[in-house]
Parts: sequence; C-alpha cells; structure tokens
Amino acid sequence: MVETVTAAVRVGANKTEFREFQMPDVPEDCALLKVEVAGICGTDVKFYSKPPIADPVIMGHENIGVIAKAGKTFQQRRGLKEGDRVFAEHYVGCWNCDHCQSGDFRLCIATDWRRNPDAIRFGYTSTEKEPHLYGGFSQYMFLPWNSVLHKVPDVLTAELAGIVTPMANGIQWALFDCNVGFLSKVLVQGPGQQGLSQVVACKQAGASTIIVTGTSRDGPRLEVAKMLGATRVINVDEEDPLDAILDETGGFGVDVALDCTAGAGTIPTLLGIEALKRKGGTLLIQGELTEFPSFPFAKIANKYITIKSARGHNFESCEQALELLTSKDFDFSKITSHRFGLSDTHEAIKAVGGSGEVIHVSLLPWE
Ligand SMILES: [Zn+2]
Ligand SMILES: [Zn+2]
Repeated sequence: MVETVTAAVRVGANKTEFREFQMPDVPEDCALLKVEVAGICGTDVKFYSKPPIADPVIMGHENIGVIAKAGKTFQQRRGLKEGDRVFAEHYVGCWNCDHCQSGDFRLCIATDWRRNPDAIRFGYTSTEKEPHLYGGFSQYMFLPWNSVLHKVPDVLTAELAGIVTPMANGIQWALFDCNVGFLSKVLVQGPGQQGLSQVVACKQAGASTIIVTGTSRDGPRLEVAKMLGATRVINVDEEDPLDAILDETGGFGVDVALDCTAGAGTIPTLLGIEALKRKGGTLLIQGELTEFPSFPFAKIANKYITIKSARGHNFESCEQALELLTSKDFDFSKITSHRFGLSDTHEAIKAVGGSGEVIHVSLLPWE
C-alpha cells in the first residue's frame, strides 16, 4: 500500500491543486475507504465557483468505494469488513440526536456545516481537520466511527452505484416528502441527473403522468427522460409550459411539482405553483434564492399548497435507491454518461451542467 494519498484539493474559486497527504492511522472504531467513484452534482458546480469556506477542501460528497482498512471495533459494530463495497453518505451524524436515531443523519447539527464550524461532512470539510481525508476526490477517504455507510449489492458496479445519491434524493423528495404514488400526476422541472432520478422513482411508484421540462440545450436529456418513463417532455424555449402541462393533465394540473432546476431564479417556483391542481397540491422547492420579490403568498394559501424543501436523503431512501438500481426495468447507463480521472478534476466539475450530453459525471480517483 502506498504511504501517501493523492487528493484533488479546492484551494480557491475554480482552483484545484493536487496534494499528497500522509496515509492516516486507522483507530479501532474507524475505517479507510479506497474511493472508486465520486459522483459530481450541481452543488459541486456551485461551490467550486463560489467556495462556502476559505479553507482548502477535498470535494466529493457522493462516494462509493471499498473498505481498505477496518478497525476491529468498526467491523464488530458495523458488520462490515475489508473488501466490502460501500456507499458513504456525506452526512456524518452524531448518532445520538432524534434526527440520527430516526435515520435522518442529514438533519443532524454534527454535519450541518452552515451552522456548526466543527461539522464534518464529506466533500465540505477543511483539510486542516485531521486526518485531512474527508472528501471523495481522493484516492482514500477516512471513515470516522460515526460515518453512515450502506453496503452496495454485489450485482452493482461502482459506477452504477455512483448514482445512488441522486436516486436516493428521488425517492426522498418525490415519494417520502411529496407522497407520489399510484396514479399520481407529477411535474419535474429540470432534466439533469436529479430530475431524471425523480422520473425513475415516480415511475417505479406508479405515477401515471410524469411531465419533464427543459430548455433547448437539454435536448438529449429530455430524450433520456422519455426513455426512463416521462409521459411528456416540454422544451420551455419552444412551447408555453403551463399550457402544455394543463393540456397533458386534462386541464386539472398536477398533484406534485418538483423543482430540479439550477440557476433559473423564481421561474420554476412560480410555474410550479400555477401547474399544481386547484387545491391541495405539493410543491418541492430548492431554496437557492435568498430573496423572492412578490412571493405569491395569497395564492399558496388559496390553493392550499403544501411546500416541502429538498434536503438530501435519509437512511431508508439510500437503501431503497441501492435496491432500485439493481432493477432491470430502467437503463441506468443512460444516466452515468461521463467519467474522468483524478487529474481532470477541474474539467470534470466544469463538465457538469455544461453540454446537453452530460448527465452524470463520475470521478474515478485511480484513473
Ligand atoms: Zn450532490
Ligand atoms: Zn445527530
């Protein structure tokens, strides 16, 4: 085993440096992950160009790998051994609070980097914090005792397992949070990896109408949406989306509107509100905006709309996502569209949200 670990470190806005770190000691209750695939998502694009903290950070928060070293206590407690392939959630919870006890590690203060300067979250934590290896754009990642791990089913390749995060978000947001189910009518705005994962989750749950919106540069992505089960795709640059949604739903509107867009301002929220059925629909928001001029409060109340916030995934949604990925009913290879080696980390992040061909980018630290 090599004595040093190479990692791609974000050292400033749009700036990556390759650094060598010492191979960490692994305490009895911890483990070391040999990273096989680090998925890249829209959040990486955002935080690469506008880093939320000034410290150097090893990014990469959607990580699949093989356990390279595991302490005795870790093996006993976790039922995992060296050689096992796992998915590491990026949330590193306290395991004690109400949220952690119910599998919502995502909501724990111990992993809330916005509110807690000592928080640990893979892909978001300063390299100043020992033993430094807290992100997936690295050959190895340190797994503290309280990391949240899921064993990857044997039939899945690392690359396919690499889309478990968006897929878990699909299950969490559409099914758990917005109650999409049998014969639901759903609007998914944005056909990126996140939107496409919502399509898969909704289709599997029995939704009868799945409408996906995109722009002119989303041509190939909208095609994939159709292949995965969208009943109608709308290019918002070419047709009026609200007219098309009402047409597709016989004038009634949808039960659930999910926002999976990036950088579209207030437009998706406003369209979602209009597209929902007359009373009682559910709107999922991303909350990218800090301000929302003329927010249509009265309309929200009048239409009796429930607003849900996209906040990652809980433990159960990850377990279900891994099982869903073993399904032969969907051609998931359409989602895992691009792969890059560690030396091309900068290019890999820039590729996400670039051309319409790119859906999901896998970073492979050993290539
Ligand atoms: Zn992500
Ligand atoms: Zn907790």
